[in-house]
Amino acid sequence: MKAARGAPAIEVAGLHKHFARVHAVRGVDLEVRPGEFFGLLGPNGAGKSTLINILAGLTRPDEGRAAICGHDVIADYREARRALGVVPQEVVFDPFFSVREVLAIQAGYFGLGGRDNKAWREELLRALALTDKGDANMRALSGGMKRRVLIAQALVHRPQVVILDEPTAGVDVELRASLWVFVRRLHEEGHTIILTTHYLEEAEALCERIAIMREGRIAALDSKEALLRRAVSKTLRVTTAEPAPSVPPRLEPKLRKRTGNILEFSLQQGTDSIPEVLESLRVAGHVVTDIATEQASLEEVFLELTQGRPSTASR
Ligand code: ADP
Ligand code: MG
Repeated sequence: MKAARGAPAIEVAGLHKHFARVHAVRGVDLEVRPGEFFGLLGPNGAGKSTLINILAGLTRPDEGRAAICGHDVIADYREARRALGVVPQEVVFDPFFSVREVLAIQAGYFGLGGRDNKAWREELLRALALTDKGDANMRALSGGMKRRVLIAQALVHRPQVVILDEPTAGVDVELRASLWVFVRRLHEEGHTIILTTHYLEEAEALCERIAIMREGRIAALDSKEALLRRAVSKTLRVTTAEPAPSVPPRLEPKLRKRTGNILEFSLQQGTDSIPEVLESLRVAGHVVTDIATEQASLEEVFLELTQGRPSTASR
């Protein structure tokens, strides 16, 4: 099951998928490098899960091709599937199997019934804090524990590439934190990680490159740093000696918030100048005692790219 030498972890070209009236994936091209921690973001309905299902061989594309570690997901299905572990968005289990049985059945699909794999499955249970629940039936587990079993299930065959489709949706803060420790470890061990999440601060903390999907297309794809630099605005927070009941008219449109003697301005990067704002305040008689600036977060860039301004959404 060697990956073709030098092949990208994921390669997608000209991909399209229709469901009845919905054109869910509208011409996606994408390459993920081996060992990358890659974020796939986008609002609900953007086509992320459809793309992932195509990669997993669960959905057939209408047009285009996709490959995992150089193995075509259709022509070379078995090899492609072996290179990939998918943690699906929806939790579906047979309630009558125990956790260990679920994992053993999964190993069976890959012809991995032996001792080595059994030891690995126990290690997965330990790493995901499931050892105590190993013999419990799936129906007896909480939602968060079921999610952890899904992750273990995706890793039973030690895939090179791991895709996690909203693995923390509806999961409590503590479990989310422990899952990220685990996923980081997988990344450090050399796995390629592709993560879909609603929690943009998590994508910002974890991912090296990020693709933002919108209406079946990739609206942006860049390193996290470059995406953050695309932000249209940044925040300037000014503290004045006395509360400022009004600001000069030319600053009004930029004023986002006023709390006591703190004024918060939203500045267009590259257009608005901080010294000019401060000078206008000084001329109007305000004494500035402190300033702070804040770069845009991934959340702001995401909203700009997915909600407004189609012109900035071109690749
Ligand atoms: P995301 O994961 O980004 O939220 P999806 O890939 O789940 O988006 O959905 C993309 C679009 O395709 C949505 O409009 C969704 O309703 C539609 N869709 C997804 N799966 C199916 C399906 N099996 N049958 C019909 N429509 C579907
Ligand atoms: Mg989805």
